[in-house]
Amino acid sequence: MFLRIDKLQIEMPKPGKPDPNAAAAVQELLGGRFGEMSTLMNYMYQSFNFRGRDGLRQYYDLISNIATEELGHIELVAASINSLLNGPESEGDPATGAASFANTFKDVRNVHHHIVMGHGAMVANSMGQPWRGDYVFNSGNLVLDLLHNFFLENGARTHKLRVYELTDNPSARQMLGYLFVRGGVHAHAYALALEQLTGVEMKKMLPIPKIENVQLPESKKWEENGNHRRLYRFSPDDYKSVAAVWHGTAPDGSGPLEVVDGPPEGGKLAELDGAGDAFTPEYHPEEIFEMAQKLYRAAR
Ligand code: MN
Ligand code: MN
Repeated sequence: MFLRIDKLQIEMPKPGKPDPNAAAAVQELLGGRFGEMSTLMNYMYQSFNFRGRDGLRQYYDLISNIATEELGHIELVAASINSLLNGPESEGDPATGAASFANTFKDVRNVHHHIVMGHGAMVANSMGQPWRGDYVFNSGNLVLDLLHNFFLENGARTHKLRVYELTDNPSARQMLGYLFVRGGVHAHAYALALEQLTGVEMKKMLPIPKIENVQLPESKKWEENGNHRRLYRFSPDDYKSVAAVWHGTAPDGSGPLEVVDGPPEGGKLAELDGAGDAFTPEYHPEEIFEMAQKLYRAAR
């Protein structure tokens, strides 16, 4: 079962100036082959189909627990895309002086963001192609599945670094900075699991590409507070045996690897204003807000 907490895993900057082309690029990290939908669904289905759960408990717990963290990563990437598609500083029409989101979206790379989604995140990649179920690899062979997960995390990191080069938007960079560190934890955790099972020191290959997280200012702050040493246990009582994999010393020698009981503190979801020219949530957003407020007060 899943519990849901109405927060993002981190605090995100408020939406500012819309940048739909950056939003299109960030979509790769949500619905691309190496995006958060893929990490989530790979680990989720591997946990559903896991064989020998009792005998291989720590690997089942590791895959299941990381799957849950990935669910929150989708939420974070979607929040970043929403931030790039919305915001008070919309580009108005210089001729009339009228603020118009429709103007902002006229010549963008992915006009589905306006026409189909009304300025929201899509379950698609940077080229607008939908996420696919055959991005999931689940052979049932534990070593092969863990090897795939190690590959997937590093493929995801490669795509994130390329998106990082394409935008310096604060919401994208905040999300990226955090996810470089969390992806690093996941790659490291799968490397440790593979090392236990095979003796091969997979962690010696990390990081792929060979750019340390501390070289990126948006990641450095998370590494400095020790986030790269923490594996969150996203459950009130379960998945405790992740500690049988996640233990030892951080690769940078900064301290011990630790399992944190419970999710990160997290941050508030941004309030997204209505966009009249996309009829969201209605043509006159203020009217539907007012109506809902009255009913909400009456119900309390
Ligand atoms: Mn992730
Ligand atoms: Mn991951």
